[in-house]
Amino acid sequence: MDRLKGKVAAVTGGSLGIGAAAVTRMAEAGAAVAILDVLDKEGEALAHKLSEQGLEAGYWHCDVSDENQVKQVLDNVADSFGSLTVLVNNAGIAGSNKPTHELTEEEWDSVQNVNVKGVFFCTKHAMPHMKKAGVGSIINLSSIYGLVSAPDLPPYHASKGAVRLMTKTDALLYATENIRANSIHPGFIWTPLVEDHLKNTSQDPDEARAATAALHPVGHMGEPDDIAWGVVYLASDESKFVTGSELVIDGGYTAR
Ligand code: NAP
Repeated sequence: MDRLKGKVAAVTGGSLGIGAAAVTRMAEAGAAVAILDVLDKEGEALAHKLSEQGLEAGYWHCDVSDENQVKQVLDNVADSFGSLTVLVNNAGIAGSNKPTHELTEEEWDSVQNVNVKGVFFCTKHAMPHMKKAGVGSIINLSSIYGLVSAPDLPPYHASKGAVRLMTKTDALLYATENIRANSIHPGFIWTPLVEDHLKNTSQDPDEARAATAALHPVGHMGEPDDIAWGVVYLASDESKFVTGSELVIDGGYTAR
């Protein structure tokens, strides 16, 4: 219960999937947690459920690709909870699954606007609060697709590769100010994002699920909590010497 006592965290894309698991585990560990998402009903329901359990959580509507909204919401979160010391840049979309030569500029930009610019906007506007608090942990959800390639999702691969290096640059820029930045690289985790992706890209989603599971040496996909526990570690002081690092949680996918 005390691993994150005194921490105030904002989790983008916190209504569903990996984000919702991270919100739940961080709140249970004692953090005050702000859920930021565009899915209001699900986010409000999660905040309500956690509050009923006596945990500290709230929901804010926030499209991470809109800089004004991001600044207003993060300032509001810091006002409401007294500070902001942990940012989990989790909101992300898979985007169009066409080969590069068939992609439109709009399809390319829509992924970069959420997955890359969203991380930039949130980090930019969380930073004044972390500097004021004299401590911070930025946790960026990259992917195995930010480490190795596969013949699909070109805009997504580009975005997750960018997030990996943005993390290292911010780790160096803010290291002396006690503000850390690390990336997490999940393998396939069974969430609405993956479920939709398999539905949209295969004739037989059950067969595609089994084939995707088999890509992991452990023989199955991960679950949102597998990533959420990594988030709790990176948010906590247990990881105080960890910055600029890549936490790979992938059932052995990239070990081959
Ligand atoms: P998810 O189930 O789709 O949940 C993501 C949440 O973010 C959704 O609530 C989504 O709303 C929200 N969101 C989308 N665009 C947003 C925006 N502009 N502003 C604010 N919120 C927004 O995704 P997930 O699978 O949990 O993935 C979470 C993160 O982990 C992503 O960055 C993803 O790339 C990364 N990741 C996932 C996997 C995996 O296998 N699941 C693997 C590697 C990395 P909508 O539903 O309306 O879009």
